Amino acid sequence: AMAILVTGGAGYIGSVATELLLTAGERVVVLDNLSRGHRAAVEPGAEFIAGDTRDRAVLQSLFRRHEIDTIMHFAAFALVGESVEHPALYFENNVNGTHTLLNAAVEAGVKRVIFSSTCATYGFPDRVPLTEDLPTRPINPYGLSKRMVEEILEWYAKAYDFRYVALRYFNACGATEAHGEDHEPETHLIPNIFRAVTGEGGPLKVFGDDYATPDGTCIRDYVHVTDLIDAHIRSVRYLREGGMSDYFNRGTETGNSVLEVIRAVERVTGGAVPYAFAARRPGDADRLVASSAKARDVLGWQPLKRDIEVVVNDAWRWHQAHPAGYGG
Ligand code: UDP
Repeated sequence: AMAILVTGGAGYIGSVATELLLTAGERVVVLDNLSRGHRAAVEPGAEFIAGDTRDRAVLQSLFRRHEIDTIMHFAAFALVGESVEHPALYFENNVNGTHTLLNAAVEAGVKRVIFSSTCATYGFPDRVPLTEDLPTRPINPYGLSKRMVEEILEWYAKAYDFRYVALRYFNACGATEAHGEDHEPETHLIPNIFRAVTGEGGPLKVFGDDYATPDGTCIRDYVHVTDLIDAHIRSVRYLREGGMSDYFNRGTETGNSVLEVIRAVERVTGGAVPYAFAARRPGDADRLVASSAKARDVLGWQPLKRDIEVVVNDAWRWHQAHPAGYGG
């Protein structure tokens, strides 16, 4: 039977994708090199292949053994700061890795690709909420690496016989019962607030207090990972039904400032979050909030968990159940 290939299925978002695809009755093959993911995060119902997207031999054997209906490509590095310090990692893993994967996929006759892209492809946007027709002007190697892959996809889809959906994620967060966020080092806001509230880490550093927002801290669009994956599953259906290659933002149209997220964590946990203001983090835009009108119109997508408190509550439940992450 046909299967969906989930690259990066041992990572945060890929593990949730695998879980929800299996629930939806799909067969799933996971490819992950475990450089940042966790073997324990791979759903037992999926076939796991330990391997790298840059390894042509692994890919060829995978595509020989499995008839892949669609690729969901999550495997990538995703930290802006790291990409500025070590751009080589990002062009090598994100661009070269995806290029190798796509070449093997074209050779094997795979017809559909769902690509994990990012709102970092837009850079500093001219207007908010962001719509998909805004110009792409990435301002760091991470955003550029994702945009480069989008451009490769555009040319490949024209020349070779396949179609893609590129989903530009805003801030993925939240958890399911089984799968949540376990990064080392952890740089993301919500898990870092948990570390501050439990005393596992020091006080949270709030990067910047003088942004052009009502409380001076950055506003982001926090999208629950299950809503995010619901959009992936809808994108598979869309392509199967003959939909054209396209881009969709993956946000909720709701913005929350860093201080608002801190307050939500305090309400959910009942604890006080110790925090201190620190210097701005380079490359942070004041306000990034998605328009999801296109995803709503074309994919019929609607976020079910828009309330930041609901999102934080799910993440907190996972954090409490897995205090040491997947290592526990
Ligand atoms: N942030 C912060 N302290 C932290 C981590 C993040 O103040 O320890 C801020 C960050 O500057 C940004 C927002 O929280 O405005 C979300 O950052 P995150 O790294 O979670 O996601 P990004 O927006 O970079 O994808």
